[in-house]
Amino acid sequence: ALSISEHKKVLVLSKKESLETNTNYAQGGIAAVQDAQDSTQNHIDDTLKAGKGLGHQKAVRIMIEQGPGLVRKLFRTGVEFTMVNGSPELWMEGGHTRKRIWHCFDRTGESIETTLLKAVMSHPNIEVRDQSLVWDLWIEQGCCQGVILYDSSLKNFYVEPAQAVLVATGGVGQVYRYTTNSRISTGDGIAMAYRGEAEIANMEFTQFHPTSLYEPDAHLKEKSFLISEAVRGNGAVLVSQDGLEIMKGKHPKESLAPRDIIAREIDSYIKKHNQNFVYLDLSKMDIENIDQKFPNIYQGCLSRGIDIKKQNIPVVPAAHYICGGIKIDVDGRTNIENLFAAGEAAFTGVHGANRLASNSLLEALVFSKRAADTVLSVEFKRPSGVGKPNIKYLSPDKATAKQFKTLVKNILWEYGGIVRNKQGLEKGLEELEKLDQKIKEKSNSISSNGLELKNMMIIGKLILASALQRKESRGLHYRTDFPDTDKNYEQDTICTIHQERRNDES
Ligand SMILES: Cc1cc2nc3c(=O)[nH]c(=O)nc-3n(C[C@H](O)[C@H](O)[C@H](O)COP(=O)(O)OP(=O)(O)OC[C@H]3O[C@@H](n4cnc5c(N)ncnc54)[C@H](O)[C@@H]3O)c2cc1C
Repeated sequence: ALSISEHKKVLVLSKKESLETNTNYAQGGIAAVQDAQDSTQNHIDDTLKAGKGLGHQKAVRIMIEQGPGLVRKLFRTGVEFTMVNGSPELWMEGGHTRKRIWHCFDRTGESIETTLLKAVMSHPNIEVRDQSLVWDLWIEQGCCQGVILYDSSLKNFYVEPAQAVLVATGGVGQVYRYTTNSRISTGDGIAMAYRGEAEIANMEFTQFHPTSLYEPDAHLKEKSFLISEAVRGNGAVLVSQDGLEIMKGKHPKESLAPRDIIAREIDSYIKKHNQNFVYLDLSKMDIENIDQKFPNIYQGCLSRGIDIKKQNIPVVPAAHYICGGIKIDVDGRTNIENLFAAGEAAFTGVHGANRLASNSLLEALVFSKRAADTVLSVEFKRPSGVGKPNIKYLSPDKATAKQFKTLVKNILWEYGGIVRNKQGLEKGLEELEKLDQKIKEKSNSISSNGLELKNMMIIGKLILASALQRKESRGLHYRTDFPDTDKNYEQDTICTIHQERRNDES
């Protein structure tokens, strides 16, 4: 928005309060090469290695070459990166071979979000409108004309025309029972792009963060509290309830192995031993200063009754990030004219089959800037004879929608979770089909929750169908019936609504 606003008017919409975003909750940081010991090629190699053959090399190179300059620009704009002797203090995280994580203690996202929001809000060419839920894209003749918003106070819809629309609606974590994601992460942008005939890629690659705080009533909460990977990067170790190091002998990097490997190990350990969690043992860390180094995690745990200066942290995996999304080229374009995407909702291909820690803020930063540059360079053509969009929709009421949302979350956790197989994925899809029927029967009202539910249903089906299609295990996607990686699947999984319609007809 800031890049575009020098030349055009921008409307920034968010469905809740402007600060209620995953960006605001990001802890660990943003990866960018800075140290003389590091190099662009090292970061590229680490990223492609994590991506397990699916990382898009061109996009990865662009992100890693252009990232450091944009991170320094964030610093100049006011993001308070933690500095030591005039240089950024760089952290190490899993899968990275060098220290390259810029951070603001463990509140990196908050500093980025508040700094950028302040700049955006004071810009005369930018209007920021929160509590504004976009229900759909207005697409006519393959060209995006604007968006359709839902006004919850009047319970009606209205249209905002635009020369260009950029979808940056974030992730999908809320489709799972346990997630670190904000309540806004219901995959709305991906679902609306899918309805609008955009290509959606690699939705089977859900990243489960290995260390979210275990709380017995987590399933009743909006989200789980994250214990950043940076804690392990600073010496914490995963241990069983009996104190055994659970990653010993499982991976050369032990507790700093890639997230997918650790998440599966914890999942299998707790199932095998009939336990609810494992511990993060902090005793090898500099515990004295832990409250200063990780103020957010320290306070977050303390407010939940755990003093991490004295106690280990009980942790379990939770849905954290989606590597798939709306397919864009390296300039932010989707296959729909005048429709762009960026951030977690977009698929650039940089993460391949697994995202390296702290590469997602970097991806969002680099490709949103490139999308902005494209928007400024394009001469927008409108198809002639465009009428008004259809804006009559129905959904279940709030209470019913909330109940149904819980069912979606349970289905996805059960059948589309850390470990998958054909039988489970088919069962999951079957359950979603049954739920679809119930939703249709109850769609006699309208509510924000009901609209989100409809989006969550699309996301759930995309995840399960993509996972079913990929008959192999690779990176984040693990199938017990196809435990090996298969060269024939060294390609992206693309879903379109056309394909779904064709399948329905056959
Ligand atoms: C707890 C946590 C910690 C993380 N830590 C890190 C980290 O250290 N480093 C890293 O690189 N990544 C991290 N990630 C991932 C990273 O934070 C996200 O991928 C990234 O912030 C996503 O940014 P975004 O702009 O795409 O989406 P968000 O920041 O989530 O913003 C989405 C916006 O879209 C709006 N929106 C959604 N739907 C609608 C709708 N229908 N109508 C109108 N508005 C809508 C929302 O209101 C919100 O304003 C973390 C994620 C989580 C959850």
